[in-house]
Order: sequence, then structure tokens, then C-alpha cells
Amino acid sequence: MNPVFDLLRLSTVSLDVLVAQRGSRAGLAQRQRSRLALLLDAALRGSPLYREWLGPGAHAGMALEQLPVVTRGALMARFDDWVTDPRLRLDELRAFMAERERIADPWLGRYMVWESSGTSGQPGIFVQDGHAMAVYDALEALRRSAPRPLVHWMDPLHLADRHAFVGAIGGHFASIVSLQRLRSINPWIAATTRSFAIEAPVAELVQALNAYDPTVLITYPTAAALLAQEALEGRLRIRPREVWTGGETLSPVVRAHIEHGLGGVLRNSYGASEFLAMGWECAHGHMHLNADWVILEPVDEHHRPVPAGAPSCSVLLTNLANHVQPLIRCELGDQVTLHSELCTCGSPLPLMEVCGRQDDALRMATQDGGTATLLPLALSTVLEDGAGVFDFHLRQLDARTLLLRLPQQGAAGRAAAARCRAVLQRWAASQGLAPLTVRTELGHAVPRGRSGKARRIVACSPDEVAPSQGMDDT
Ligand SMILES: [Zn+2]
Repeated sequence: MNPVFDLLRLSTVSLDVLVAQRGSRAGLAQRQRSRLALLLDAALRGSPLYREWLGPGAHAGMALEQLPVVTRGALMARFDDWVTDPRLRLDELRAFMAERERIADPWLGRYMVWESSGTSGQPGIFVQDGHAMAVYDALEALRRSAPRPLVHWMDPLHLADRHAFVGAIGGHFASIVSLQRLRSINPWIAATTRSFAIEAPVAELVQALNAYDPTVLITYPTAAALLAQEALEGRLRIRPREVWTGGETLSPVVRAHIEHGLGGVLRNSYGASEFLAMGWECAHGHMHLNADWVILEPVDEHHRPVPAGAPSCSVLLTNLANHVQPLIRCELGDQVTLHSELCTCGSPLPLMEVCGRQDDALRMATQDGGTATLLPLALSTVLEDGAGVFDFHLRQLDARTLLLRLPQQGAAGRAAAARCRAVLQRWAASQGLAPLTVRTELGHAVPRGRSGKARRIVACSPDEVAPSQGMDDT
């Protein structure tokens, strides 16, 4: 039995999770206030860093807006002062992270630890105690609206299900740590779950999945889209009943492609190393924020609040469950839209849309001599929807030139590249951009960070945004 599992705590948290989602907005706000006070109290008592940052007059009753915005980098730079248990030391944890065979081993007998890849910023190390894990467990089990909620993790009679997790399994990343922990808690999960390395060659992965024949596929949207293509072309023969995605942006076009290719019901979720189970999709297909345990503040580039319904530039996260490593108004980088309307499903939990941080926004030259920002979601939608291409890598070379790399080769690759170029140039013109040059290269796999997440759109540094000669190699 994994010691970072507290059944009594899970029971009480589970009850509250059920009550909160049947309650009111006022009930959520009350939970946020009281949990923030407990978090601040823990931070002020146990974290020398927070005592220093909040100053001598700080108290547990302070409002969120009074507290400073922090970055992961600033917290990691003072890790040993940040955590509220002085036995947690960064040098020892880094050594632990280097031991792959110890993934999901409890640290000091009482903490789960995972790392973030740091592809889009400073790598982080995140420590969770039994209470935080109980919160994540309850949220996952009770709110993730899989078509058959609860049964997957809790009901040993569903032995017929075979779960395939396709992701990064070579490091202490949150997804594989969580999965390994569940396997150690529950022997039925261990018996019905298998992990597949996302970095394996596609043909190898397809062959392994065909042999295992999963009924539930758990992976990133880009990996699911790639597998859907393999299925449509007849190489992948699995027909999962459910596909669970998370960790990257999922656009409506990619969702439709995955559902078409793989069949089954797709459920998307939103999580981060900073808080595992932030968002889940209800039966009505809308993503809800678990606002009783995590506060997200959508902000603009100056950390000013963004109104409901408008997409943010970044988002500030406050984890109300974790007192060991307080995360209060920590900048996450994701672009989030929070809505004020209630969902038709009746839940008081706010509705949201998310665009992840793996991809960059691009600053491109306009016809009138200025620059315009192209959001990654818009660019990827143009390629997915307009050209039917889901697996791509778009690198900005300068303010007028993009390099598009596709994994395909030969005639199919050339045709896909021509479609992409045409839709990109047409769309750029409609956005008022200066004439756009799209260079293409075939036979390149989409690069993935250590955590397995794809980086499909990469901006060049601002000093590279200079006029280009522009040559279109077809
Ligand atoms: Zn809903």
C-alpha cells in the first residue's frame, strides 16, 4: 500500500466535493475564502520565504488581491525556504528525480513528488502530502465525467477494461507518478493498466497498442490525433470505448478528428504539475474549473484581471489543497477564458476554455508596417480545419516567414504541405498580414519536450523578427 493514501481523508474530502458541486456559487466562494485562510496560515507559519515576501503585517485573513504575484522560477530559486517542511531539500529531491526506477516512491515516507519538464520555462519540483493527494483523488474520481464515473478506479469488477496510458514514462512526471501511485494502491488498476512510451517510433507504438487492444486510451490530444490518423489509414486497429485526453490544448477540430478516427467517447481534462485536476468536462461537454480547490485568475500581460468571457494572456494559480509547498498567485502561462454563465448541467463550478502554454503566439508583420499577434489556437485551427493536417511543427523564422515541418514524405507529404501553405497564406492575408512565406520540410517528426507534450508552434526571438528575403521551397 502506498503510504501517501489516506482513506479517511479521502472520504471526508469526497463528501465535500460532492456537496460543493451540488451547491451554489456562494458556497464555492465561502470554501475559497476559508481554504485560502488555512493556506496563508500554513505559509506564514511554515515558509520562511512567504514570511519574507508577505512582510511583518501579513495575516491569514488577507484577500487574494493583496498578495504578490509569484513565478515558478522565483519559488524554485528559494526552494528550501519555500516549503513548509524543512526536511524537504532541493538537492536531495533533484538526486531522487534522477533515479528513474524510483518513480512514485513516497519521499520521506509521506510525500508524492513529481517534476515538470521545463520546456516552457523553469523546471519545477512539486511535493504533495496525503491531504493534497486525497483532494486530487476525490476530484478525479467524482468529477471526471467519464461515461461511467467512479467505476474505473474504484470498482474491481470492471476487470474487462484495459487502460493504455501513452505518455512520457522516462521521468518523474505528474501523469506517470499518479498512475504508478494508483497502481500501488489498487492491484486491479495495476492489472488493467499499461504504459506506453510516447517517444517510441510510431510503428512500434501502433503494434504494441494493437497487441494490447485497450478499451480506454489515456494520452495527449496531439498523440490521440496521431493515433486517430493511424487508425484511419488502417494500421491501428484498436476501438477504445473511451479516450481521455489532457495536458495540451484540444480544439474542436482535433476532437472531431480523434472521435472519427478512434471512435468512443472523448473526455478532456485540464491539469498542471502545480495542480493535477483543475478542470473536467461535464456530461454536457463543457469544461468546469474545480474552483472549490483551485483558484485561477485570468490576467493580461501586466497581471491585471481579465473580464469573464475574454481570453487571458496568462493565469495566476492558487492551490488550496497543498500546504507543504504553498502556491499562491503563481503565474502559470496558460491562456484561459473563464465564463460567468452557469452550465446547463446545473453545476455551480465555472465554465472555462484553455489554450495551453506549449505553443507560442507569433508576432508577424502587417501590410501597414506594424505587427500583429497570431494566437497558437488560431494557427493550429487553420492547419487542422483548413488543411486537415494535425501533426505539424510550425517554426517562425522571421516576421514574414514560417517554416512548416511535416512527418509525411513523398507525394502525400507534398500534397499536405501545399494545402498547409495555401490555407496559411490565405488566412494571413485575411488577417491583414504582409505577404507570408511558408517554407516546408518533409520527413520531420513533431518535437516533444521531456514530458512528452508536443511543441507545434514556436516563435523566434524578438530580435530575429526582421525583414526576410523570402524563398518558398516547395
Ligand atoms: Zn456542465
